[in-house]
Amino acid sequence: MLDSVRLRLTVWYTAAVGVVLILLACLTYFLYARNIAQRTDSNLVELTDAFATTFNAELPDEIGPDAPVKAAREAMLEHRFRGVVFVFQDAEGQPLLSSLDLPAGAMSNEHLTPEMFASPGFRAASSLAGSPRPFRTIHIGRNGFRAYARPLSAAGRTFILVVLQSRRPQRELLDDIRSTFLLIIPIALLLAGFGGYFLARKSLSPVAAMASKARTIGAANLHDRLGVANPRDELGQLAISFNELLDRVEESFERQRRFVADASHELRTPAAILRGESEVTLSRPDRSPAEYREALTVLRDESQRLAHIIEDLFTLTRADAGQYPISLRDFYLDELASDVLRHARSLALAKNITLIPSIEPELLFHGDEALLRRLLLNLLDNAIKYTPAGGTVTLECKKSSAQYIVSVTDTGPGISPELQSRIFERFFRADKVRSRSETDSGGAGLGLSIARWIAEAHHGRLELARSDASGSTFSVTLPASQS
Ligand code: ADP
Repeated sequence: MLDSVRLRLTVWYTAAVGVVLILLACLTYFLYARNIAQRTDSNLVELTDAFATTFNAELPDEIGPDAPVKAAREAMLEHRFRGVVFVFQDAEGQPLLSSLDLPAGAMSNEHLTPEMFASPGFRAASSLAGSPRPFRTIHIGRNGFRAYARPLSAAGRTFILVVLQSRRPQRELLDDIRSTFLLIIPIALLLAGFGGYFLARKSLSPVAAMASKARTIGAANLHDRLGVANPRDELGQLAISFNELLDRVEESFERQRRFVADASHELRTPAAILRGESEVTLSRPDRSPAEYREALTVLRDESQRLAHIIEDLFTLTRADAGQYPISLRDFYLDELASDVLRHARSLALAKNITLIPSIEPELLFHGDEALLRRLLLNLLDNAIKYTPAGGTVTLECKKSSAQYIVSVTDTGPGISPELQSRIFERFFRADKVRSRSETDSGGAGLGLSIARWIAEAHHGRLELARSDASGSTFSVTLPASQS
């Protein structure tokens, strides 16, 4: 049941309100009880003062042995209050007179009987006379009494006056307060519960709306977005973040879709050439060995190109999924660069291009040698491919502070400024028509994407450092600390 955030919030909220109300009620009750007790005590002192004044006034000039009791009786008759009992005692604590002895109606005594003046509680109260805190609560009957004892002197003798005040009114008041709280707190909790549930439902309703909208978003309507009610509140922020996530998903979905479309497009050309060439060759039964040889050469070149594209696609998909196996070991970059140059020599010779090495020795590096070989070959291959006959291609390898810099410079036509930012995109070729027609050049526009990925997989980067009419320089920066 508590799986619903709404209910959980309501329960927490109601519990918090409940705790606060109960604390408040306890505090109020405690303060009231203390205040009433203080008021009772000061009332007892006032009553005793008044009694003492009357008592002294009633004492005759010639004081006989009965005079103090008589004066006490007069004072008791004068100060008759509901719930108040005066007990006039001798110095030993023997009651001489109490207002209970007076005519009926003097007071309501709450079943107090003169025998009770002999109870230990009462005696303890009267023994407090003259002490700094002569108050005591006596538990007689249901409510009990508050007692105040004071010594009185008359005719050289000491008497003790004990004033008892019923605690019934205080009890009743405190009972009233308690029952009021017992009634109010459940009602307040009920209201808080309903109010909390309503508020929680209202504030969480956008979440429910978002959830049901999100449930409808799929591949077919990835461009749909959640509504943002208030972009400044937390739920608005959540919706914005969710929409941004959808943006990214849509973008990557679109990239993936384009990749698949471009890939099939790229594969279609060599496949069509393979089919066309073989159909043409087979359309006539009697062909000369030279014709078969020529057709097979076309088929071989095209299947090579096809295999090359498939290999590149496979590399990129595995790289995207983070599944390309990279095996790191120590090797010398300078040796690798020289080796790659040797391999590129035949390509360069065929186009009458001069390869110029500028390689510093002892460049120890820690990385995947096969991948870096592929990177350098891609760059050299491009440089030779796009440089006209008679040009030069320079391969420079050097250490600069904590970095290795490998750059390939050609004297080709350069890449126009508006296309420079796009050459690392997948399937991008600056001159598609020319590239497609030159089937032997074999480029599908994936070489630089793969080269850049290889540099980044080694925590480095690949950039087009310069490109103008006099040629281009591609530069790879690799961290030397890897070595
Ligand atoms: P491709 O297989 O077409 O060579 P790449 O990804 O290697 O694919 O290169 C992408 C595009 O960048 C190429 O089609 C070409 O237009 C341009 N390019 C790459 N290297 C050079 C270069 N050295 N000189 C001029 N253009 C280049």
